[in-house]
Amino acid sequence: MLSASFDLIAIGGGSGGLACAQRAAQYGARAAVIEPQRLGGTCVNVGCVPKKVMWNAAAVGLALGDAHDYGFEDAGGRGHDWRELKARRDAYVERLNGIYARNLATKGIEHVRGAARFLDPHTLEVNGERISARHVVIATGGVPVVPDLPGAQLGITSDGFFALAERPRRVAVVGSGYIACELAGAFRELGSEVELFVRKDRLLGHFDTMLGDGLARELRALGIEIHERVIPAAAREHAAGKVLVAQDGREFGDFDCLLWAIGRAPNVAGLRLDRAGVACDAAGHVLTDDYQDTNVPGVHAIGDVTGRAALTPVAIAAGRRLADRLFGGQSQRRLEYRDIPTVVFTHPPIGTVGATEAQARAAHGDAVKIYKAEFTPMYHAVTARKTRTDMKLVCVGAEERIVGLHVIGHGADEMLQGFAVAVRMGATKRDFDDTVAIHPTSAEEFVTMR
Ligand code: FAD
Ligand code: NDP
Repeated sequence: MLSASFDLIAIGGGSGGLACAQRAAQYGARAAVIEPQRLGGTCVNVGCVPKKVMWNAAAVGLALGDAHDYGFEDAGGRGHDWRELKARRDAYVERLNGIYARNLATKGIEHVRGAARFLDPHTLEVNGERISARHVVIATGGVPVVPDLPGAQLGITSDGFFALAERPRRVAVVGSGYIACELAGAFRELGSEVELFVRKDRLLGHFDTMLGDGLARELRALGIEIHERVIPAAAREHAAGKVLVAQDGREFGDFDCLLWAIGRAPNVAGLRLDRAGVACDAAGHVLTDDYQDTNVPGVHAIGDVTGRAALTPVAIAAGRRLADRLFGGQSQRRLEYRDIPTVVFTHPPIGTVGATEAQARAAHGDAVKIYKAEFTPMYHAVTARKTRTDMKLVCVGAEERIVGLHVIGHGADEMLQGFAVAVRMGATKRDFDDTVAIHPTSAEEFVTMR
C-alpha cells in the first residue's frame, strides 16, 4: 500500500535520484523513489558499469596480444566468447540491482514501481495512484538520440549495444563523442571490423584538440577506419548487410551492425511537466539554478535531465548536496559545476579536467603558457604493439596557475583523480615542480615538464 505523502520524492531511480533520496533519508526525511525499470538507472544498467566491463575485457585482450613479447608462450589467439562475457556482465549488473533495492529497504525509502507524471507541482500519479511530497526531485536522466532519417531504425544505440548477444562482424559507428569512441574501441578490441563515421573532422570536439587527434591516431592504429565529414542522410539494408548513406551521396557498407552514438536527449516524455509549470530549454532539459531549483518552488532537478555535465558522479553530487541543503541544515550547499574531471574509456584512455588550450587562450590571451610531453609509455618497452602518451598542462598568469590538465595514454584513467584535486585547489606549475615524482610511471611526466 502506497504511503500518500512524503518529505521528498525522487522521480527516477538512477544515479541522481537514488543518491538524493538516500541522503535525505539519512537526515530523517520520509523519502520515496519512483522507478519503473531496474534500479540504478543508465549508469548501472546500460552505461558506465557494463561499459567498463567491456573496456576491461578489451584490456585483457590487448594484454594477451602483448603477452608473447613479455615471454609468455601460451597466450592469446584463442578467440573471445562474447556470449560468455555478456552472461557474466549481466549477472554482475543484476547483483547491483539487488544491492540497490536492499539499500533502499534498509534506509526505509519507499520504492514505487511505475512511471510518474505530474498532476500539480507537489502531486504525482503513478499506476493510477496519487502521491505527494513537499519536495519533488526530477531525476529522469536521458535517452539516446536516434536521428530522424529514413532507415534510422536499422541502427541500434548504446542501449542496443548492451543487448547484443553475439559480436557483430562488421560494425559502423556514427558519432564522435564519448560513446562513439568508447564503443567503437570495445567492438574493435574484441574482434569486430569497425568503421567510425564523424560528421566534422575531429573526434571529441569539445575536448582539447590534442585529445581528439591523439585518439584518432590510436584508434586507427587499432585498425578502426575513421571517415571524416560524413553527414548521415539515410540507412538502408540489402541482402549483404546495412548501408549508411551520406548527404553527399557516398554509400558505406556492408555492415552487420549500425550504431548511432550522436548524443542523448532529456527523458521528459510523459512527465507532464506542463501541469507543474516547470520550465525547460529548447531541447527539453529542465532548467535549474545554482541550487538545482526549478522555476517552481519545491520542484528540483538533478542529473542528465538538466543537461549539465552528464556524468554519474555529477548526478550523485548534485543529489546529495540538494538533500544536504533541504534536510541537513546546510543552506548554501550546492554543486559547483567547474573543474569536473572526466575520463573517456578508450585504449589508451583519456583524462581531462579544466580548460582546453583554446578556451584558456580565448579567456586569457598571451597570459597562457602550455607545457607538453609526448612519449611511448614504458609498458611498450618490450612490446611490438605501441601506443603513445600525450600530456598537456594549460597554465595562466605569472604564477602559472594550472587551469587545464589533459592526457591520453596508458593509465590516464587512474591518473586523473588526484591531479583533479590539485587543479581544483588552484595548484601552480611550481607546486607540480615541487612535488617529487613517482618513478617509473607515466604520471611523473606531469611533475617534471619543462
Ligand atoms: P539515469 O541514471 O539515467 O536515471 C534516470 C532514471 O529515471 C532511469 O532509471 C529511468 O528509468 C527513470 N525514469 C525516467 N522517466 C521516469 C518517470 N516518468 N517516472 C519514474 N522514473 C523515470 N558517466 C560517467 O560518469 N562515467 C562513465 O563511464 C559513463 N559511461 C556511460 C556510458 C554510456 C553508454 C552511457 C549511455 C552513459 C554513460 N555515463 C557515464 C553517463 C551516466 O550514465 C549518466 O550521467 C548518469 O546515469 C545520469 O544519472 P541520472 O540520475 O541523471 O539519470
Ligand atoms: P556526446 O555529446 O559526447 O557526443 C555526441 C557527438 O555526436 C556530438 O558532440 C556531435 O559531435 C556528434 N553528432 C551529433 N549529432 C550528430 C548527427 N546527427 N550525426 C553525426 N554526428 C552527430 O554524446 P554521447 O552520446 O557520446 O554521450 C552522451 C553523454 O553521456 C556524454 O556527453 C557524457 O556526458 C556521457 N557519457 C560519459 C562517459 C564517460 O564518462 N566515460 C561515457 C559515455 C557517455 P560533432 O558536433 O563533433 O559532430
